[in-house]
Amino acid sequence: MKDTFRHHGLRQQLVNVLKNKGITHTGVLAAVGKIPRHLFMDSGFLNHAYQDKAFPIGADQTISQPYTVAFQSELMQIKPGHKVLEIGTGSGYQTAVLCELGAKVYSIERQNELFKKTSKFLPKLGYRPKKLIFGDGYIGLKAEAPFDSIIVTAGAPFVPRPLLSQLKIGGRLVIPVGDDVQIMTLFVRKGPKEFEKEELGEFRFVPLLEDKN
Ligand code: SAH
Repeated sequence: MKDTFRHHGLRQQLVNVLKNKGITHTGVLAAVGKIPRHLFMDSGFLNHAYQDKAFPIGADQTISQPYTVAFQSELMQIKPGHKVLEIGTGSGYQTAVLCELGAKVYSIERQNELFKKTSKFLPKLGYRPKKLIFGDGYIGLKAEAPFDSIIVTAGAPFVPRPLLSQLKIGGRLVIPVGDDVQIMTLFVRKGPKEFEKEELGEFRFVPLLEDKN
């Protein structure tokens, strides 16, 4: 669990890469500059941790590309104290970014192995999401709804209805939609039954799978 001066330097380089790719949100850039991403990956992959690339984290899953994490986080428009739901905890890196932004984070993971690993790991780094849940993100988290924003970090073949209905009025859902390639899609809830939809380009994610395992 080492975080050295060298890691710090590599993170600043990564922050510059993200700035050059168009990320402007100062809180998001600060989070990327602070979170030791190399610790969210197996130690053998140290040299890859601060490249702008997705990477395997076990159980056939990946830690999202830093640009994707930053892009989605920026779209959420998080304010300190916001109640936020994440679907696909994975390594917990995105969860840590949400914590750094001051959100009260609820995060759901369907892979038990990752759920257990990340539940133990995040507090070691000082990150305390409100709740990590082993469950199926397709149904959201009705007990804690409504949310200021919801982020889906796996490719969804369709937009799960419960996620739209668990948003506050004014709330934002950021979700990559599609099978092989996904279109990053932003929904803003304008009224009980009104949603504004915006499509923001192509991304590639591992699939959002039905049910837990
Ligand atoms: N946010 C993660 C990205 C992990 S990849 C990170 O920063 O590391 C996507 C994750 O979504 C995987 O861990 C996968 O197991 C999980 N996932 C897939 N389908 C799901 C579902 N229906 N409910 C909850 N999690 C799901």
